[in-house]
Amino acid sequence: MSETDVQTTAKAFRAHLEKMAHYNEALALIAWDLRTGAPKKGVEQRAKVIGTLSSELFAMQTSDEMERYLDALSQTDTHGQIDAVLRRSVEKSKKEFDKYRKIPKDMYREYVELQSIAESVWEEAKPAADFKKFQPYLEKLVRFNIEFAELWGYEDNRYDVLLDQYEPGVPVAKIDEVFSQLRAHIVDLLKEVQASPHQPDTSFIKQAFSVEGQKAIGRFILEKMGYDFTAGRLDVTLHPFAISLNPGDVRVTTKYDANDFRTSLFGTMHEGGHALYEQNISKDLIGTPLCTGTSMGIHESQSLFWENFIGRHPSFWSCYYDKLIEQFPEQLRNVDLDTFYRGINVAGPSLIRIEADELTYALHIMIRYEIEKGLINEQMKVADLPEIWNAKMQEYLGVVPSHDGEGVLQDVHWSSGSFGYFPSYALGYIYAAQFRNKLQHDLPDYSKSMAAGDLSPVRIWLTENIHRHGAMYDPRDLLQRVTGEDLDARHLVEYLEQKYKDVYKISS
Ligand code: ZN
Repeated sequence: MSETDVQTTAKAFRAHLEKMAHYNEALALIAWDLRTGAPKKGVEQRAKVIGTLSSELFAMQTSDEMERYLDALSQTDTHGQIDAVLRRSVEKSKKEFDKYRKIPKDMYREYVELQSIAESVWEEAKPAADFKKFQPYLEKLVRFNIEFAELWGYEDNRYDVLLDQYEPGVPVAKIDEVFSQLRAHIVDLLKEVQASPHQPDTSFIKQAFSVEGQKAIGRFILEKMGYDFTAGRLDVTLHPFAISLNPGDVRVTTKYDANDFRTSLFGTMHEGGHALYEQNISKDLIGTPLCTGTSMGIHESQSLFWENFIGRHPSFWSCYYDKLIEQFPEQLRNVDLDTFYRGINVAGPSLIRIEADELTYALHIMIRYEIEKGLINEQMKVADLPEIWNAKMQEYLGVVPSHDGEGVLQDVHWSSGSFGYFPSYALGYIYAAQFRNKLQHDLPDYSKSMAAGDLSPVRIWLTENIHRHGAMYDPRDLLQRVTGEDLDARHLVEYLEQKYKDVYKISS
């Protein structure tokens, strides 16, 4: 192609991508609305609206027009004539194109509608602890995902191709390797923690904490983190999340437990960490498929970084504990900083993933990972899940739920057919610890800044190294660029050992 032809095609391709970004923004806004109090009676109709918009988007993603752009712009001789952002956009779009072209249009539409309905069925099945009600929907969702994987094709494991949607380039073989490395250490450390005579005092946690006070603290900390309230908002939901419409509108939600300040405090920091990633993506990427976090795992590394490496760090509280006492003088006046620090870092087996501590969290993920691998490879049946779930809880954590509402039905992910998503949470921990190790090297005084109340060096480092790149690099490439290492659980193991031996006064 001539230089002029390339530039004309590139311009048309950019306009096409921008239109797709607009549809995505509308869908994100609808998703936010559905999860923040949309009337129940409108859900069925809304599912159809989502179906229509998604189908349009799907058509744009897989159109002959798109094929022409991708064919023209992926020719090697055009490479020198288009910039890196456009080259990467071509690469990402081609991957999606090849994947979605293989799914018949009607099948996709049927799937999107099933997702919306299954999510609302799950919302009723969970509080009723009624797995049987949800089972037929889950069976359909699993079947769809198996068919997708077969249409897309895979080399070693059928589940690889589903994992690739959330964590590109991180297959079962790699996850098995890092998870087994991690599991062995966590199980040993958990035993030591449980056997320690120095159990943290947590009696101050379960008290009445006014929602107003919690709101004030949540907003205060989000601001200190650098969350831009003129480019976002904070709402209340049953299941907190962060969602980006564009870098100028990244919304977070939280929930308040009037008898436990931790839910909103750490939940808000967690979602704030996700939001910082999206708010700080380079403006150059707006309107392209790169204007998003590069993978769910890297996203989770950012939320966990803030929630745990900052929010549960002694230096952070050496500065901000007074602020918390100011808000809750009755409850915390007689709790000294060390007691508070050890109390918020208590660890032990529990039933609910989102309430799990840093030490046991990955074990909850491993259970879901093993189950998904089994379902997608047809080695497990949906009907057997409650039983399998409970057996795995016993095996990994030594506790068993008393009903399915706090067991197999607890998470929203499967109701939207998101198989392959869960491992990202634990991978996020592993990435986060690798980033932390590098950050400590680059900014040896970062905990001193934290103790002085200044969180900006950390945020700037994360923006510079991670946030601004959006989806320019796949997760393992990004990790390599930032840390010079491949995925490795070693830094997380070291961090957990050091931390919990300190909190539980275990001498090694
Ligand atoms: Zn998260």
